[in-house]
Amino acid sequence: MEHRRHLRFHDRRHKVYSFAVYVAGAAALLTVAHSARVPQLTARETAIVSLLALFVVLGELLPITIRRGDTVELYTFSSTAALGLVVIGPVWIAVAALLPAAFLRDEFRRSRPMFRTLFNLARCAISLVAARAVYDTLSHHGLLGSFTPHFAPRDLAPALVAGLVYFTINVCLVACVFALHQGAPAFSLLPEFLRSEAPMGLTLLAVGPIVLVALEFSPLTAPLCLIPVLAVRAGALSASKRENQALHDQLTGLPNRTLLLQRARRAVASSAGEAAVAVVFIDLDRFKEINDAMGHQVGDQLLAQVAAKLRETARPGDTIARLGGDEFAVLCPEVTDSASALEIGNGVVTALTGVIDMQGVSLRVEASAGVALSPLHARDVDSLLQRAEIALYRAKGSRRGSVLLYDERFDESSVERLTLMGQLSKGLDDELVVSYQPKCRLSDGAIVGAEALVRWQHPTLGLLSPARFLDSAEKTGLILPLTEQVFRQVVEQWRRWRDAGLDLSISVNVSAANICDPMLPAVLGRVLEEHPAPRRRFLVEVTETSAVTDLESATRVLEQLRELGLGISIDDFGTGHASLAHIRDLGPVEVKIDRSFVASSTTNDRDLAIIRAATELGHGLGLAVVAEGVETAEQLELVAEVGCDLAQGFFILPPVTADELASWVSRPHVWPRHIHPASPAAASQLVET
Ligand code: C2E
Ligand code: MG
Ligand code: MG
Repeated sequence: MEHRRHLRFHDRRHKVYSFAVYVAGAAALLTVAHSARVPQLTARETAIVSLLALFVVLGELLPITIRRGDTVELYTFSSTAALGLVVIGPVWIAVAALLPAAFLRDEFRRSRPMFRTLFNLARCAISLVAARAVYDTLSHHGLLGSFTPHFAPRDLAPALVAGLVYFTINVCLVACVFALHQGAPAFSLLPEFLRSEAPMGLTLLAVGPIVLVALEFSPLTAPLCLIPVLAVRAGALSASKRENQALHDQLTGLPNRTLLLQRARRAVASSAGEAAVAVVFIDLDRFKEINDAMGHQVGDQLLAQVAAKLRETARPGDTIARLGGDEFAVLCPEVTDSASALEIGNGVVTALTGVIDMQGVSLRVEASAGVALSPLHARDVDSLLQRAEIALYRAKGSRRGSVLLYDERFDESSVERLTLMGQLSKGLDDELVVSYQPKCRLSDGAIVGAEALVRWQHPTLGLLSPARFLDSAEKTGLILPLTEQVFRQVVEQWRRWRDAGLDLSISVNVSAANICDPMLPAVLGRVLEEHPAPRRRFLVEVTETSAVTDLESATRVLEQLRELGLGISIDDFGTGHASLAHIRDLGPVEVKIDRSFVASSTTNDRDLAIIRAATELGHGLGLAVVAEGVETAEQLELVAEVGCDLAQGFFILPPVTADELASWVSRPHVWPRHIHPASPAAASQLVET
């Protein structure tokens, strides 16, 4: 058993230790040479010894390579036969078979440095001689040079102890040389080595006496002797495959987070001098939308192509990892400064940005990246990765396709937000709840509609208002799935109310990021296909400000929503700077006068004048006018007086659950004098807004 690891520095202790092992090896060889006699063998004994020697050579020349993360472990099967030869003796035969084979393997298969080959040969010589010495002592068979062809039952225990000694000496010698090579205390790696080597190493040695008994029974059993060895080999290979799989992402074959962490730890631990370790976190923009709209198969193919592109950008020594979903990372173990790390991040994003052709569909791919360096931003790996992630989320929030270097000012709120968004993405399906606030028709007091308002039932923080999470959801690309989820709940709720005899039109709010997103119509359209309902019963509320910020994209998306049959409502009307022409182009059916004007309408004439003008403007365009945020009877009367068609506000009812709204609607209400109450039954009739 041998290990090949990445070692960087030598020290004097290591050299002294190696020298001591060479000397001990030479002494062992001298002892062997001194005791060497050619035994008189029968034809059968010659066959047994030759077969064992052949197994030793074959085992040495056909080693099995096991990858454990980045550690390559090399197991040879020679130990089984070597123990057989040790037991039979004389020991020079075992040495003569094993050492040249080990030498050949090192020279031809591995082309490793000479000092390592010498160390390896010395190790073999020491362990063989020690094993035989122990066997001789315990079995009273005599000296190193003696030939003991008959393996009796009483020899079993001494043989097994000899195997244990052989194993222990080998592992100790190797573990110490590795520890010293790394500058660690000599025995610090011993427990780890013993733990990892024992299952396989001891099993192979335990097979030794069995092989011996079988060969003594008949040399013709030689092929059968290979079976347990091959079984161990197969088991080890499949275990190593499983271990390898556990460290790699199945879809792309890239290292996963665990392996990235291992490598990052090693890189940070061994980085010295001027060099820094950089981590670049990468996230595809709008991947979830592509995945949802085009299906997981296309999503998977896209990820595989992204992985391939990332591999092309990698420099030697870099690790490209997939962290999950559409998140990737690049670990650069040696960068000179933050400028060059940023350059790497920019290179990656540029390489990923572009159009990928997928099953005849051209998909535009964009990515954002966050970069952090050790030791500049963090000394330990966990913080380093966390900071790269914070920088990534900042980058995603600033604009698509941007790359940011971590900055302390990205601070704690980022961590908090990051945590919250991580939780939101998990809780999207079952922690979002929708409240409903009724819309009252001012001509007769009938409840004709409701506005859906999202809340997040957070497992530990309680019920969170949209102000706590919407902004971050917009910045982290969670807003479309959130809107989809709210819309799905709304359509399902419409059906339940309708089945209970309550037919309301329901408004759903969409964010600024939503209405510039060409995926929105497809996503809402799919929900409507899954849950058929009359589309004119649903309104999409868009704030005036968000509609005019990117008027061109918004107009396009809103047009598609109208084509789906959905109505458009301009929310918070009066707070943006939309011209009449803009409003007309957006094609709404309704405007909602912002609650700030309503709040001061009874005290401030200017605000009342604005409400009046906005109402006239809305009516001029043929739109329904809603007054939002009506908190008092006085305000309700006033907005009814100026001609608003509908009103919404705490005075009528604050947002409540769907069930509460249904039972509230079924009760009679007393309205102020300007409103002529409709019978409660009117609410259950089909009323258009
Ligand atoms: P909005 O669309 O203007 O919704 C009206 C907000 O005013 C709601 O706050 C509502 O609770 C509150 N409100 C209603 N009547 C009164 C009143 O008489 N007085 C006062 N002071 N406030 C009143 P909420 O639920 O906290 O929502 C805040 C904003 O969050 C909404 O403003 C909307 O822009 C956004 N929002 C809510 N749900 C969603 C959603 O599902 N998706 C998106 N994208 N945005 C949403
Ligand atoms: Mg609204
Ligand atoms: Mg509003």
